[in-house]
Amino acid sequence: MRPFSYHRPSSPEDAVAQVAPMGPAGQGGAFLAGGTTIVDLMKLHVVAPPSLTDIGALGLDAIEDRGDGTLHVGARVTMAAAAEHPAFRDRAPVLSDALWKAASPQLRNVATLGGNVLQRTRCPYFRDNVSPCNKRDPGSGCAAMDGINRLLAVLGTSDQCIASYAGDWANALILFDATVETLTADGGRDIAFADLHVPPQDHPERETILGDDELITGYRLQIPEWARRSVYVKARDRESYAFALASAAVALDMDGDTVREARLGLGGVATVPWRAREAEGFLAGKTLTEDVATQAAQIAFQGAQGFGHNDFKIPLGQNTVVKALLDAAAVQLTEEAGQ
Ligand code: SF4
Repeated sequence: MRPFSYHRPSSPEDAVAQVAPMGPAGQGGAFLAGGTTIVDLMKLHVVAPPSLTDIGALGLDAIEDRGDGTLHVGARVTMAAAAEHPAFRDRAPVLSDALWKAASPQLRNVATLGGNVLQRTRCPYFRDNVSPCNKRDPGSGCAAMDGINRLLAVLGTSDQCIASYAGDWANALILFDATVETLTADGGRDIAFADLHVPPQDHPERETILGDDELITGYRLQIPEWARRSVYVKARDRESYAFALASAAVALDMDGDTVREARLGLGGVATVPWRAREAEGFLAGKTLTEDVATQAAQIAFQGAQGFGHNDFKIPLGQNTVVKALLDAAAVQLTEEAGQ
């Protein structure tokens, strides 16, 4: 690991003021929260920020119901705390499930929700610091395109990069039209969560619309009452501590067997957290049978492209969607169970 300076600011405003002067992307300072991504990447020499601004003492660690149906989630809430919080567990199990199925207990105890949505890809060539990689070293090429790409994306790819987004929680959060609250030295702004990540296109080195000194301070989201009928299905190589080969986040508003509204997010298969809106539109008004779920899954993967080793992700992803839809439809809500 290369030398770096360490700062421990006393407020979020202090934090962004300290990190701001450090320079352009890739050369500037970085925020440190749980550290579960950036410390790994520093050890591998994939990134070498000259300074770390530790936000560990800044609060931002509460989940609050604001009373008007809005839930506010601080950026420093840990994955473990969020996973067991009743606001997630009881009102939108998909948000809780996605966290329980991510990482390991040790990581969930320190990793925060602000950093979680910003975690970097697990593409092996990005992390080996040797192979051509447009994301790590723009213009150098993409070793994964004709290399070992089993874990990489089939949706949202470009001819510059096919890296998959590695997280789980973001694929559930995207169902709820969440707002990301940020702070910079010049003030703050709200960002629609669906706009936070950008697909690789010609600039895979740029993964979000955040500025270099922009700190995520929290999220606001509205959870509809019917989101109690929601699930997160994750297919992976082993049942614990493994990234998704394919995952599906589903929330359903049902009238008997008929779908009033469906929300569908995909993980492990796309370059960014992915909302399958065409499939959602197809499902609205339909009786949810296995055949309808299969058709929705096919729509969700329209335009998907495999690169050899990862071709299997298309049928696996479709099967994951079908299972998630049928599992969600089978959820017995408390009042229904008592009828
Ligand atoms: Fe780099 Fe993206 Fe290619 Fe992986 S897929 S080698 S991250 S450019």
